[in-house]
Amino acid sequence: MTYFADLSPYGYRVVETRFNERLLNVGWLDASAPFSKGPVEHDVFERLFRRCEKPVNRCRGFHHCLYGSLESPPSPCSIPAPSTLGPWTLVVGNGEIRVPGQNGIVYAAPTLICHYVQRHGYCPPAEFLEVLRNYG
Ligand SMILES: [Zn+2]
Repeated sequence: MTYFADLSPYGYRVVETRFNERLLNVGWLDASAPFSKGPVEHDVFERLFRRCEKPVNRCRGFHHCLYGSLESPPSPCSIPAPSTLGPWTLVVGNGEIRVPGQNGIVYAAPTLICHYVQRHGYCPPAEFLEVLRNYG
């Protein structure tokens, strides 16, 4: 998948921004760059998961997760990658989510973010988690 640093300006596709809206990237990970790790509260993860159930910018194929293959020992992730919440399983990697934040900021994340958080311990930026926590 295309890599973008967390909180960099979004530019993956020609954009749907509205006036005074700033789209920022979150969760566009790639094996070439390290990512922050840490626990994400269950409630916050649930809000993230719910948003990934209704993606935007869906594409026909699935982006694959390569992190499992890089683990020691390698434990390749399923294709497409799954994310689970209780009895629900979501296949992710074929869309994006938008999370409106403060001051005209909107976060743009791939749906793979659910899988990255759950399976690989990715910890998204604090301000993004804060928005989900408060306005999820
Ligand atoms: Zn994975």
